[in-house]
Amino acid sequence: MFLELTKFHGGGILIVMKFGGTSVGNAERIRNVASIVKSHIKRNPVVVVSAVTKITDALIRLAKECAQGKGDETLAHIEDVHYGILGQLDIDKALLKENLEELKSLAAKAKSGRSPDAEALDYFQSFGERISSKIVAEQLNRIGIKAKAFDSWELGFFTDSKFGSAEPLKIAYSSLDKNIRKLEIVPVITGFIGKTENNEITTLGRGGSDYTAAVIGAAIDADEIQIWTDVNGIMSTDPKIASNAKTIGKVSFAEASELAYFGARVLHPKTILPAMNRNIPVKVLNSFNPKNSGTTIVRKAGKNSHIVKAIACKKGITMISIESTRMLGAYGFLEQLFDIFYKYSKSVDVVSTSEVGVSLTIDNDENIGELVKELKEISDVNVLKNKAIICVVGEGMRRTPGVAGKVFTALGKKRINVDMISQGASEINITFIVGGKDANASVKALHKEYFGG
Ligand code: ADP
Ligand code: ASP
Ligand code: MG
Repeated sequence: MFLELTKFHGGGILIVMKFGGTSVGNAERIRNVASIVKSHIKRNPVVVVSAVTKITDALIRLAKECAQGKGDETLAHIEDVHYGILGQLDIDKALLKENLEELKSLAAKAKSGRSPDAEALDYFQSFGERISSKIVAEQLNRIGIKAKAFDSWELGFFTDSKFGSAEPLKIAYSSLDKNIRKLEIVPVITGFIGKTENNEITTLGRGGSDYTAAVIGAAIDADEIQIWTDVNGIMSTDPKIASNAKTIGKVSFAEASELAYFGARVLHPKTILPAMNRNIPVKVLNSFNPKNSGTTIVRKAGKNSHIVKAIACKKGITMISIESTRMLGAYGFLEQLFDIFYKYSKSVDVVSTSEVGVSLTIDNDENIGELVKELKEISDVNVLKNKAIICVVGEGMRRTPGVAGKVFTALGKKRINVDMISQGASEINITFIVGGKDANASVKALHKEYFGG
């Protein structure tokens, strides 16, 4: 017996439910996901899934190994993980035959080739979500929910051709809306991946399934976008750094954006904008603890007893300090400077300026040799690697004097040296740079200051 959907197809409630890698990490987790979806069936769920945990990493490794004529072991591991899950769910291997054959032939071809470019890497990575979506859809059918797996492009998820960080095309929104509304089953859609109009597979960037869910949610004007993960929502900091981190019940789109942008991995930074544009609430929920109410992200989060809501941290940052007396009283210097970053497609995260100096950070310092050479033509340049951004966020900070003083006093007590400080124009965050080795200690000290423990 199949449970009927209350609608789909032309009206009523639609929700997007996205499940991350650990949520679909093994057979038991997939059973659990299916039962969570079933419990929301009256709200017409549109399901988005990530690859099984660690499979994306394995696929990237496979692509790189193939270029060196290796990769057999990794390929066998990827097959074993998925076949193991099928075995435990009692699903026939035939379900994944086509995908796994295609992956095998891709790997064989890659062996005769050079090291994988961004396009090849995206093609390899796509198998994670293409496979997990099939398993989840099959499990849903097993428990009486009519479901079907879709590669996102089958429903119109087309992107530009920026492999590794593709952006959905404008037309994707209307196609997704039209195609999803026609369905009379629960779609289980691949997160993270898309296709160009020339039929090339793209990815949205690591962790991008959240973004897929938000784009689909905006496209169909969903009532709610649910991000199901492995913790009880957005917390006061990463619970892996401070074990007493607490769930924040409500945050604003602006606060969530800052946190995601500055390292709170629980949400991909691009997730917020599509939801915010259509004012769709985003819920962050725990698939390991579905009764927990998690975090709701809305336009206005209202009052919270905490001035500081959360502390985010992003490691592996490179800081570039530029000093030039030519800046003094001159105009056009900053423009010249940022033009150089633009030319080398390096996006700058944090900036702080003084009369004769500018400090800024980038999170990807691949091939910066040429960029630094050009900077040296106009200024003295100092490059410092292995830094971390710490970001303290809360809308209450806007109205509360003394937050910065308290933050830096707490760090001073721990003898942590701060390299650079910046406060966003929105005044809902204080962002600063410390050495990578001091990152966890900084987060712990600030967490203790604001949340105790
Ligand atoms: P998924 O596979 O479900 O997408 P991710 O691993 O991408 O999950 O994100 C969840 C992880 O984000 C958590 O396990 C946690 O360690 C980390 N994290 C970092 N900062 C935060 C935060 N402020 N609140 C909650 N989790 C956080
Ligand atoms: N599977 C992809 C990754 O590991 C996308 C995601 O999980 O959101 O990055
Ligand atoms: Mg994630």
